[in-house]
Amino acid sequence: MTGLVLAIDQGTTSTRAIVFDEAGRPGASAAIPLRQIFPAPGWVEHDPEEIWRAVREVCSAVVREAGAANIAAVGITNQRETTVVWDRATGAPLHNAIVWQDRRTAPLCEELKREGWGTHVTDVTGLLIDPYFSATKLAWLLGNVPGLAERCARGEVCFGTIDSFLLFKLTGGALHATDATNAARTMLFDIGKGVWDPQLLGRLQIPAGILPEVRDTRGDFGMTHAEAFGAALPIRGVAGDQQAAAKGQACVRPSMIKATYGTGCFVVANTGDNKAQSANRMLTTILSQEDGVRTFALEGAIFMAGATIQWLRDNLGLIADAAESETLAKQANPESGVYLVPAFQGLGAPVWDAEARGAIVGLSRASTKADVVAAGLESMAFQTRDLLGAMREDMAGAGIGENDVLRVDGGMTANGWAMQRLADILGECVEVAPIPETTSLGAAYFAGQAAGFYGDDAELARTWKPARRYEPRMAPSEREARYAGWLEAIARVRSGKA
Ligand code: ADP
Repeated sequence: MTGLVLAIDQGTTSTRAIVFDEAGRPGASAAIPLRQIFPAPGWVEHDPEEIWRAVREVCSAVVREAGAANIAAVGITNQRETTVVWDRATGAPLHNAIVWQDRRTAPLCEELKREGWGTHVTDVTGLLIDPYFSATKLAWLLGNVPGLAERCARGEVCFGTIDSFLLFKLTGGALHATDATNAARTMLFDIGKGVWDPQLLGRLQIPAGILPEVRDTRGDFGMTHAEAFGAALPIRGVAGDQQAAAKGQACVRPSMIKATYGTGCFVVANTGDNKAQSANRMLTTILSQEDGVRTFALEGAIFMAGATIQWLRDNLGLIADAAESETLAKQANPESGVYLVPAFQGLGAPVWDAEARGAIVGLSRASTKADVVAAGLESMAFQTRDLLGAMREDMAGAGIGENDVLRVDGGMTANGWAMQRLADILGECVEVAPIPETTSLGAAYFAGQAAGFYGDDAELARTWKPARRYEPRMAPSEREARYAGWLEAIARVRSGKA
């Protein structure tokens, strides 16, 4: 048997390795949590050496269990945007990695906006100027790590996102590369032309020589060095985590869409060869690049999904654990009229009101904690409808959601009541991913396809089966009445400043 694919998933809070067989079934796996470093308020760092040690450890364990001879290919997926610089000669990191959540470059982003870079950034990179992306993090490192700019000029430095750093380490320094989905998150990459943008590099004083070569998502990324984890294996796929999750959900045709419900919620819609620009501040990004051909996506986020349930548990003490939210929601009064607007950090798409704050509205003397918990779960469904509505507007009828299906994964999908309510509020089917490790599965699909497994995308789409499917059951009149109530609740929390 040689039909296994090893997926490495280097995430924000953990590093995992897992093998999948030729049918996409998960086998041996290992995971190690990742230390979060908070050097100052709003700053978040990771230790790249710790990440590399963790990758070696989890891969060693899994390869030992599965047998190196059985593994045909390796795929990598990773937390996106997180920025690393390292020594080209030794592979030693030259600073901690600056994590995507880090806000230290907000002043530089404001400067870029004042200088009028907004339109250029959106036209070329598909993104919005924000500290979230790698560009200003790299500029910060070049300006603040003593001697770094001089060493760059001497050709001694490599920059990359986590995938790139791991590729360098895994290949024993033979390869300084990234894939197009990760490049698309740097705010330095021209996603239309598929090249680094000279104008942004110039403005941020980033020398082109430190940038990785950009390769296809599915393709040849060299061999793992025998010293990495004791086996020389071909690396055949690399993708950012959200793009990998979309692949793991087989969202391989234009208009197919997936939502991942974790702490927050990430929605990714395949827009095919259409580099659709959003009027609603969605991001345009590369979903994958194969044989040099780029497939695009629209991406949007909901700040508070599972986090609302954590808040009900930790701040209000209404539930003992997340699972209890389902038990309570089933006891709620369906006519309660209670809405919970989790605008704890302002309202996102399509309203974009940073000053708005949360509220529970529609309370009466008869309201119970079950009603409030149900409203917390239901807010996830309403926010999804808001977001999909905005995406559909951006796509101007080109279609989002093939056959009216939303594919979902993440911790919250364990909640059957919430998933049924999602289908009801959308008036569309909700399909839950076959396995929880969708992101890893996507990385395995990319690498496995390059190694001749899983068939082509049409085959993947045909064989992919959801674990569960929720059909809308609510009467359209009730759906629209509830959604109208949500829109009223939203109107009540707006700050008047957006
Ligand atoms: P992340 O990757 O962001 O840490 P996960 O995919 O592990 O997130 O999902 C965890 C989130 O899912 C938590 O915010 C938790 O509140 C929520 N969650 C987990 N189980 C349930 C449940 N049964 N009902 C509602 N929410 C849940």
